[in-house]
Amino acid sequence: MNTDPVAYIRQTIRSVPDWPKPGVTFRDITPVLQDPRSFRVLVDLFVYRYMRQRLDLVAGIDARGFILGSVLAYELNLGFVPVRKQGKLPHRTLSEDYSLEYGNAAVEMHDDAVKPGQRVLLIDDLIATGGTMLAATKLLQRLGANVVEAACIIDLPELKGSETITATGLPVYSVCQF
Ligand code: AMP
Repeated sequence: MNTDPVAYIRQTIRSVPDWPKPGVTFRDITPVLQDPRSFRVLVDLFVYRYMRQRLDLVAGIDARGFILGSVLAYELNLGFVPVRKQGKLPHRTLSEDYSLEYGNAAVEMHDDAVKPGQRVLLIDDLIATGGTMLAATKLLQRLGANVVEAACIIDLPELKGSETITATGLPVYSVCQF
């Protein structure tokens, strides 16, 4: 049995070749969530990292960022705000476009989700090109938030997303890398 928490989480992630299209290896976190041991260890790693930091909110990115983000917000006694894909939020929204490999996408937040000056931890399951995290950061900053760190379970360093995010001055934390 692996007693190193990061190694245990990393080996529990399922790699699915050629999904959703040929050439892409999808890093599937559902086995980590369904195994009580790895889920607890994963949440505890984030709690340990952030419990002494001054934070007001956790912002989770649609959809897998909601799972970890809401548990973490609850554990840290913080509020949770969703950063959603386009067209999902019912109230007044702010939107930020970004490019995907083919075409464009947008992320949205309610315009009253964050108060100016609030310290926000941004979280998603994975950073690839970094486009999603950067768009979410821009949204939060337009609302006056102070984004403290971009956190994820998995970083794909070859795609240089975390490097690009760090170059903007926003620190990145990832549990493991592929
Ligand atoms: P990016 O904007 O390129 O950094 O892509 C990050 C977003 O796309 C995250 O919300 C991920 O859930 C998803 N994503 C991108 N590539 C992968 C991958 N290889 N495996 C799983 N999710 C991915």
